[in-house]
Amino acid sequence: MLVTGIEILSKAHKEGYGVGAFNFVNFEMLRTIFEAADVAQSPLIVQASEGAIKYLGMDMVLSMVYTMSKRHSHIPVALHLDHGTSFESCKRAVDAGFTSVMIDASHHPFKENLELTKEVVDYAHSKGVSVEAELGRLMGIEDNVSVDEKDAVLVNPNEAEEFVKVSQVDYLAPAIGTSHGAFKFKGEPKLDFDRLVEVKKRTNIPLVLHGASSIPESVRQTFLSTGGDLKGGKGVPFDFIEQSIKGGINKINIDTDLRLAFIGQVRKMANDHPSEFDLRKYFTPGMEAVKAVIVERMHVLGSAGKI
Ligand SMILES: [Zn+2]
Repeated sequence: MLVTGIEILSKAHKEGYGVGAFNFVNFEMLRTIFEAADVAQSPLIVQASEGAIKYLGMDMVLSMVYTMSKRHSHIPVALHLDHGTSFESCKRAVDAGFTSVMIDASHHPFKENLELTKEVVDYAHSKGVSVEAELGRLMGIEDNVSVDEKDAVLVNPNEAEEFVKVSQVDYLAPAIGTSHGAFKFKGEPKLDFDRLVEVKKRTNIPLVLHGASSIPESVRQTFLSTGGDLKGGKGVPFDFIEQSIKGGINKINIDTDLRLAFIGQVRKMANDHPSEFDLRKYFTPGMEAVKAVIVERMHVLGSAGKI
């Protein structure tokens, strides 16, 4: 059943658990995400980036998600635009039938970010669609980084309070030290949990963690042992994810883990069965591996059994 993002996240915010927001770029990934939610009996957010929409076509994104949400009608699911870059892009998603959009103007100065976010919120709310925005810049932080340097890139709790009050945004992604991709930390993983707790206290809305893939050991092993190269990439450990949820995170974006799990199995198939050319035989082990990653994650996040 397709619902708004805030419907799923306000429950998570009240009860103190996290909901995974999983990216998809094709039918195999989308179908697997839904099947995993069914196994875990978990509410779900599926998200498409502007790149994914360009690749699939807006009509295909919508028809695939509608079909899958009908097939799993008891799973509450929100369709979210990941990292919308402009008002027009968010409007297009709202008009097409997305139930949640992110406007990412975090690279702009505070005032411009606020104005653009407010413009998107006003339009989206008039159509009953929820909105996510981002404050601060996504990048890893290290032990030897000074307080001033941290303040320059991470979210400012005062600003977060004003931003939410003025824009009326539904949920906020505060930069607390995560980054996108497989290479998240130079040294030991480190997130600014104190800052997170302060932002939660000041805003009292669902918060979002971007760049939250964990790169589980089995996924890493398959990827590396089949000839992949992760260049020393490190994910966000599960206990960091659990601590983030305790600190107020309710939406956790996961993309890299799914890609690595899928590609590792495709590569394994290609290595082990060089004469195989049935696409389904490549994709099926990939889908099974992705499903296992998602089901496990839903238990870590606490969303399993919450439908
Ligand atoms: Zn992101």
